[in-house]
Amino acid sequence: MAHKPRALVTGASKGIGAAIATSLAADGFEIVLNFRSSQDAALRVKEQIEVAGGSVVLAQFDVADADACAAALKTIMANGPPIGVLVNNAGVVADASFPIMNRKAWETVTRTTLDGFFNLTNALVTPMIRMKWGRIINISSISGLVGNRGQVNYSAAKAGLIGATRSLSLELAKRKITVNAIAPGFIETDMITSVPAEAIRSIPMRRFGQPSEVADLVSFLVSERATYITGQVIGINGGLA
Ligand code: NAP
Repeated sequence: MAHKPRALVTGASKGIGAAIATSLAADGFEIVLNFRSSQDAALRVKEQIEVAGGSVVLAQFDVADADACAAALKTIMANGPPIGVLVNNAGVVADASFPIMNRKAWETVTRTTLDGFFNLTNALVTPMIRMKWGRIINISSISGLVGNRGQVNYSAAKAGLIGATRSLSLELAKRKITVNAIAPGFIETDMITSVPAEAIRSIPMRRFGQPSEVADLVSFLVSERATYITGQVIGINGGLA
């Protein structure tokens, strides 16, 4: 490879995505840091990465918006080395018990996760094939594996992402492109602020996970130590079944 490829992390203005961007920057990847609305938070992550000696550009767009993704990718791809690492991390919750779940809650969650996956991955796979190297990591959830009350939309989206991971990994295995999913349990971010503290009792390790612990796993999967791992769904959950 002429240049070290860049890493695009979606939903990286805070939480798990911010930790992943920080970790991959420390691994020497130039980062394209996507976010949707939290500009101040994204700027803070950018500054932290730069203070640590890393390199990052911000890319504000909604991953569920196909036209916005296409326009952003056009600019991104015209201005630097190819994207070799794609972390589909952007995600939202809109919990409700199913009888009262409205269409907006269904669509926001499924479109962010599944259309977001399609809009970016579909466009970035061909350059990875040309490069004969790539790493695609999809941030799913334990909810996509075992389900969760109040999360029919989120579980459906995250389970769909696992199906997409498995099928795409089969298509790309011969091309030195790995495709894996990570299924976190409870990770201490804004997303779980409404989760009651008693939830900790259901976790065998009796604590929530930290975003940096997920980021360490991403760094490993991206590294040359993980070249033979593809099509997997890796749990990171303190033992929560
Ligand atoms: P978070 O703290 O709420 O952060 C979510 C990030 O996604 C933010 O940067 C947000 O950007 C971005 N985002 C949301 N919708 C977007 C869109 N349409 N386009 C672009 N960016 C968008 O959540 P988190 O806990 O870090 O979650 C990260 C991922 O891990 C999600 O996929 C989530 O489902 C998954 N996950 C989390 C947990 C957990 O316990 N925290 C467990 C399992 C899985 P803006 O703020 O700028 O809009």
